[in-house]
Amino acid sequence: MLNFDHIPILDHHAHPFLRRTATDDPARFQRWFTESTDPVTHQRYVPSLLVFRTAIRWLAEFLGSEPTVEGILAARARLSEKEYTARLFADVNIGMVLCDYGYGSAEAYDHAGMQALLPCPVHPILRLERLAEELIVAEPTFERMLEAFRERIAAARDQGVVAFKSIIAYRTGLQIDAPDREAAQRDFAYLKAMAAREGRVRLARKGLCDYIVHLALVEAERQTLPIQFHTGFGDSDADLRYANPLHLRNVIEAYPAVQLVLLHAGWPFFRELTHLTAIYPNVWMDLSLAVPFATVGIPAMIRDILGMAPFRKVLFATDAFTMPEIYWIAARWGRWGLAQALTELTQQGFLKEEEAMQAAQDILWDNAQRLYQLS
Ligand SMILES: [Zn+2]
Repeated sequence: MLNFDHIPILDHHAHPFLRRTATDDPARFQRWFTESTDPVTHQRYVPSLLVFRTAIRWLAEFLGSEPTVEGILAARARLSEKEYTARLFADVNIGMVLCDYGYGSAEAYDHAGMQALLPCPVHPILRLERLAEELIVAEPTFERMLEAFRERIAAARDQGVVAFKSIIAYRTGLQIDAPDREAAQRDFAYLKAMAAREGRVRLARKGLCDYIVHLALVEAERQTLPIQFHTGFGDSDADLRYANPLHLRNVIEAYPAVQLVLLHAGWPFFRELTHLTAIYPNVWMDLSLAVPFATVGIPAMIRDILGMAPFRKVLFATDAFTMPEIYWIAARWGRWGLAQALTELTQQGFLKEEEAMQAAQDILWDNAQRLYQLS
């Protein structure tokens, strides 16, 4: 079995931790081992998920505790958050994190908080829809909102942002139409009324969603910033029918100079995404979320992907969120899956060992370093 443990992970898509008080009882710990937002699933069905069973067993071994949620929580409480995170990250060799702060829980750490907690460099990703929502509430008119949005995204690179991220798949789907200013303006008026009533908005109007993504694509090209798109599965907020990466064909072809990082292997549409990655030079394939949630299915998925897509365009990430354990679990499953798939290719004589080693180096670190121009 090949071993890539010495190659660090450049985790190019992840999210901030929540303050520990948000995850320190069994119910609140357990709920993060599923994408489901349903409390019945959290309580009744998470315990029979493979990803949860293995997490509890592996964490108990790591911490020397009882293999129960209570045992793990008691053992982790004896370590400071910073020390515990450092031990987990060292164990799976995570060397850098690109962090999307856009999911907006009041309990989430901000960038300075994550920099203080993580034992490795962390760089911010700017989530477009979250920024637009803030500005719809804050700005009085459509023109002023657009101006503020353009200004903020234009300053991204100078402020250390390494990529944009769009969750349009969750909101109005990946079939993004040509920009329509009038439709965007009508949606702004609708949302502005919502903001007046409720003090906040959820941007899920197609005219405006499509419009701001086009603005960001133009800026991404100007600043040579990659743009990450959520594709494939996620929580129940996403209608999977509209999250198939094949819907992005218009955008892929209209912006050939913009590097499009399609997240989560498009799972379950990873074959569709593999095809796009193979034929379009500006499409990149990310493995996160499918790693770890596809668990024992990970090696077969990676084998399929590497059977057709260039190794130089496949990227490893955890999509971890809420607590450091999720980073660790995802890194363990992903390392195992990658080693399984590449070992099999060498055993079958399709790759030499040094080629497999280079593929792992590319997927775990080098591809992301080149793509995001990180030193
Ligand atoms: Zn994510």
